[in-house]
Amino acid sequence: MFTRDRGQKKAIEEAEKLTDVEIIASSVDKNFSYIPEIPDVPKDSAYLHITTNNTIEGTAIFDVPQTKEIPLVADMSSNILSSVYKVSDFGLIYAGAQKNIGPAGLTIVIVRDDLIGQVEKLPAMLDYAVQAKNDSLYNTPPTFAIYVAKLVLEWIKTQGGVAAVEKQNRAKAGLLYEYLDRSTVFSSPVERFCRSLTNIPFQTGDAALDRLFLEEAEGKGFVNLKGHRLVGGMRASLYNAFPIEGVEALMAFMDEFALKYKGGEVHV
Ligand SMILES: *Cc1c(COP(=O)(O)O)cnc(C)c1O
Repeated sequence: MFTRDRGQKKAIEEAEKLTDVEIIASSVDKNFSYIPEIPDVPKDSAYLHITTNNTIEGTAIFDVPQTKEIPLVADMSSNILSSVYKVSDFGLIYAGAQKNIGPAGLTIVIVRDDLIGQVEKLPAMLDYAVQAKNDSLYNTPPTFAIYVAKLVLEWIKTQGGVAAVEKQNRAKAGLLYEYLDRSTVFSSPVERFCRSLTNIPFQTGDAALDRLFLEEAEGKGFVNLKGHRLVGGMRASLYNAFPIEGVEALMAFMDEFALKYKGGEVHV
């Protein structure tokens, strides 16, 4: 069982190699710009898979579906440790470390004990039973990535924990969304109730002007603002490590750009 969002496409393709996949909810009708209502999960499902933060689209699930006896599996790669979630709501959480935790090459998996070892004859690489039995040291782990992750986890503690980090993230994202909502030049394509705190797509509505914005932004040191190729426009990624000063600087540049090419912003 999957909810279909662009961020889930690859997960769906992989699952299809092994089992039947049913997509029970999708926002494809509006270009993935919202989180669809998730209906009851069919009783014979092995699990429901969601992506808590859709990195490309800039949508996020804050209230996770309560699937009762059916395990909820989540790809949390782009908002793990940036928003508070109740781990006990999930059967399994997985996340690449590279966005909020540390260098690429490390993957975090949090899996409920009773879900481990249910599949026989898996290659050791894919078998959480083997990993669990060997304290995640069955193979040589990526030691440097784990060391950096430790430092980042300690840093999160010094910030006051995930709840405090979420508060900072809400402040950062809130600033930019507020700006986008009163801007006459830039706008957010994502419906308000499901806007991501970490990935914020925005656009002018004119592809040529978007390209110009990206070019001039890069000249001023605002890099990696290009939206995903599937979506276009711009995208600001405000991961945990990104400071609020960066958001303020971006908004100042957006004002400057609007003045230069659109005669200025009309803030309502
Ligand atoms: C970044 C990310 C991944 C991992 O992407 P790779 O570049 O393939 O390692 C997976 N899922 C989500 C939701 C992501 O944001």
